[in-house]
Amino acid sequence: MTPPLYHFGAGPAMLPAEVLAEIRTELPDFRGSGISILEYGHRSPEFRALMRETEADFRELLEIPADYHVLFMPGGATLQFAMSALNLGGRGAYLVTGQWSAKALHEAERVAQAQAVWDGSQSGYTRLPADTEWQLPPDTGYLHYTVNETIAGVEFHLTPASRGAPLAADMTSMILSRPVATAQHALIYASAQKNLGIAGITAVIVNPAALQTPPRATPSLLDYRVWLEAESLPNTPPVFAWYVLGKMLKWTKAQGGVGALAARNQRKAAMLYAVLDASDFYVNKVHPASRSLMNVPFLLHDRNLEAVFLREAVAAGLQNLAGHRSRGGIRASIYNAMPEAGVARLAEFMRAFERRYG
Ligand SMILES: *Cc1c(COP(=O)(O)O)cnc(C)c1O
Repeated sequence: MTPPLYHFGAGPAMLPAEVLAEIRTELPDFRGSGISILEYGHRSPEFRALMRETEADFRELLEIPADYHVLFMPGGATLQFAMSALNLGGRGAYLVTGQWSAKALHEAERVAQAQAVWDGSQSGYTRLPADTEWQLPPDTGYLHYTVNETIAGVEFHLTPASRGAPLAADMTSMILSRPVATAQHALIYASAQKNLGIAGITAVIVNPAALQTPPRATPSLLDYRVWLEAESLPNTPPVFAWYVLGKMLKWTKAQGGVGALAARNQRKAAMLYAVLDASDFYVNKVHPASRSLMNVPFLLHDRNLEAVFLREAVAAGLQNLAGHRSRGGIRASIYNAMPEAGVARLAEFMRAFERRYG
């Protein structure tokens, strides 16, 4: 028997084998209708039922307050960068802790008023700021941060002090990986292709009290109130991505929920950081307190060996370990769907590779 293959890509990320198997079985016939989910009408009672279940599971998993709204829409997290700025109003204050928060600020500046209140680019995005290191200008409309920087590999393990400003968070690459203080946020968004399924759908959690009226020229699909009124169906939704999201939420519950996954994710990340910390052969520049549990980027001390590392990793069943195209190096993305056995295999491979080439 060939050993299982593990896929460490940052996104689209691996799906649990059980979820893929269910999709394969159910694909020709959605819930006994004889029609495939790929062809299914979004206004049908069956799809409405799936929508309701999806929202209920999502609310349960994240303990979303009853007065908050949950929306599912296309456009990815990248569209939320602009949409959040258009709808929260006032001057946005941004903690720029990596490539994604820098993009969020850039998009916000295109459509609204926004500024960085802390910028980690000078230090190569290797650490997160303490709350004492930044201030909110008096005209701040909201504070935006990126909980986990997927490329830099830095993660906020505590919610930053928002000092009364509505708090907006990009949770794309860590949502459901551990409990979060949902009710401390005015807006949370996450595109699905990391921990929630496949690309094409984005989850948005919003406190309606935080919404302002967007500028008059705002297209209706960029106004959250239009989505609230239409219950996430102002136009044809990504039906299949929604279905996969529903499957991922059921799978997450079956794993024991967010608390159980958090414990597993801690163990997984610890395995890799232990290898990195035990050697000079591998280099991870991220400050230990800011380390991501989901994305572990590292370099080889001898950078000429990186191509060999990646080649031999593939031969060992460890795929998609190349770092982001902007940075090179190696990156292991170990989202919820990555089993502990996959991370153990990678850790063992890294030790063996060091013995051979170190
Ligand atoms: C992947 C990612 C994005 C981009 O998501 P799209 O769905 O491609 O727009 C944004 N923010 C973070 C933190 C990400 O990991």
